[in-house]
Amino acid sequence: MIEKKKTKEIHVGNVIIGGKNPPVVQSMTKTDTRDVEATVKQIHQLEALGCEIIRVAVLDQDASEAIRKISKAIHIPLIADIHFDPSLAIESMKAGAKGVRINPGNIGGLRSLKRIVEVAKAEDCAIRIGVNSGSIEKELLKKYGGPVPDSMVESALGFVKVLEDLDFTNFKISLKSSNVLDTIKAYEKISHLTEYPLHIGITETGTLIPGTVKSSVGLGILLMRGIGDTIRVSLCSQPHHEVVVAYEILRALEIRKRGPEIIACPTCGRCEIDLVGLAEKVEASLSYLDLPIKVAVMGCVVNGPGEAREADIGIAGGRGTGIIFKKGRLLKKVKEEDLLKEFLKEITSVMEHPQDTSGRTDR
Ligand code: SF4
Repeated sequence: MIEKKKTKEIHVGNVIIGGKNPPVVQSMTKTDTRDVEATVKQIHQLEALGCEIIRVAVLDQDASEAIRKISKAIHIPLIADIHFDPSLAIESMKAGAKGVRINPGNIGGLRSLKRIVEVAKAEDCAIRIGVNSGSIEKELLKKYGGPVPDSMVESALGFVKVLEDLDFTNFKISLKSSNVLDTIKAYEKISHLTEYPLHIGITETGTLIPGTVKSSVGLGILLMRGIGDTIRVSLCSQPHHEVVVAYEILRALEIRKRGPEIIACPTCGRCEIDLVGLAEKVEASLSYLDLPIKVAVMGCVVNGPGEAREADIGIAGGRGTGIIFKKGRLLKKVKEEDLLKEFLKEITSVMEHPQDTSGRTDR
């Protein structure tokens, strides 16, 4: 089991981050925050998949004002993402945001930071010091020869000192770069130098496949070393993928489990049904269930049930047919076109009688 590094506990609304608590899953909306209806709809979708904190981009006063309505219509704490304008951070917190993500390097200097901290204290909000490789102070770029891990870490620690001097400690830190190795080095370094919780993520990773690979490698290595109090997978893809991939990373490392675990064979010449299509449909149908069962989707009866013996329930394809099995034992044989429907019916029965996984061989 992976031992997480103990950090200082902070809170974003009612969500505790840090300490020995497992990493919290965050995401960010891809809607125009001023469109309250679309933003709330997207947040509800992400909540249903297990998103625990949501961040929205705040570009102007209309967006900060929209937070008033959005935060009342959702069930998880909202963080406002602000660049350049400290007034937007202040207005967002007053409108119901439970935290702000700022890049202290572009928020207007010490005076602006002081104003933000005062309001964060008054409204019981959290702050994320979000250092990006693209916005490090000029002196540090000169000192280290560029946006390297050392300059990111020194930049973040400088702002840690500023917040501590302002007697504010309800904050976390992120150091993001699109370079996976730089991100790992930066987080490893800062985790030895501070006890404040770390929000980890790889930024600008790309579309679904490269983004998932970069995030899995980068976040996986950090989590394996006990680093990471909240995680966000950034993907140029459909919003729900970020949350799904985040939980799959945590599941693979046995840190957190959410929803059914779906195993599927890669298919081969023995497969005589559309297994890829079927596996995708099973995944989509079960994605909103928070049920700790293992589900198998296998291409053939020759090896499928045996290979997936530890699955609670599964499907194995045949010629225009398929079987449904429980714990590796045959339950029933159905036509290919009825397979998904019958399978989902059996899943419902497993949900209603979770202890009954004995299997039947009477058909
Ligand atoms: Fe091939 Fe069957 Fe194995 Fe799938 S379960 S990879 S179809 S042998």
